[in-house]
Amino acid sequence: MPKLKKYVERRDLSKSKEPKAVVKLKGSKQIFVIQKHEASHLHYDFRLEIDGVLVSWAVPKGPSTNPADKRLAVRTDDHPMDYAKFEGIIPEGNYGGGTVMVWDYGIYKNIKVKDGKLVPMKQCLKNGQIEVWLDGHKLKGGYALIKTKFGSSGDNWLLVKMRDDEADARRNPVSTQNKSALTDRTMTEIKKAQ
Ligand code: MN
Repeated sequence: MPKLKKYVERRDLSKSKEPKAVVKLKGSKQIFVIQKHEASHLHYDFRLEIDGVLVSWAVPKGPSTNPADKRLAVRTDDHPMDYAKFEGIIPEGNYGGGTVMVWDYGIYKNIKVKDGKLVPMKQCLKNGQIEVWLDGHKLKGGYALIKTKFGSSGDNWLLVKMRDDEADARRNPVSTQNKSALTDRTMTEIKKAQ
C-alpha cells in the first residue's frame, strides 16, 4: 500500500488545514512529536519519524514518566512529516475533528539492540518491539513501545517509560505541563485563536 494512503482517504484537505500528504526523504536526525488531541475522546498522538513518515499511536491517557505505568497505545494511520508542526483546529465533521496541541516534540534515537546490534526501526516496528531515547522539551529518556496483540484486528501496544535517570514516578507531565511545547498556549487559547 502506498505510504499515507489512509491519511489521504480519510480527509478532505480542502476543508481542513491539516498538512498535505508528502513523504519526506530521511534527514540525519529523526524527530518525534506528541500531540494532545481533543476529539470525540481526548487522547495523545505519539508519532515517531520512521522512513519519511510519522508512524503514529493514539495514547488515551498520554505518556507517563513512571516505569510502573503501562499506557495503552493504539496504532493509527501514518501521518506526513509536516504534521509534526500542526497545531490548531480540525473542523467538526472532518476526520479527527477537534483541537490539536503540540504537547511535546524533539529528536529521538533508536536504542533497540539485539545480539549486540542495533535493530533498524522498520524491523522494530514489524517485531512489535520499539525502544527509543527521547530528547523532548517535556519527555526525556528511554521509552518502550511493545505490541501486545498479533494477528488480530486490533493493533494494540503499550507505551512504557524505561528505567533510567529520567524516570520519575512522581512527575505527572500530562496534568502539570499542559501547555504547547511549540507556542506555550493552552488548549483554550488554541481554540480562541481560530
Ligand atoms: Mn488523534
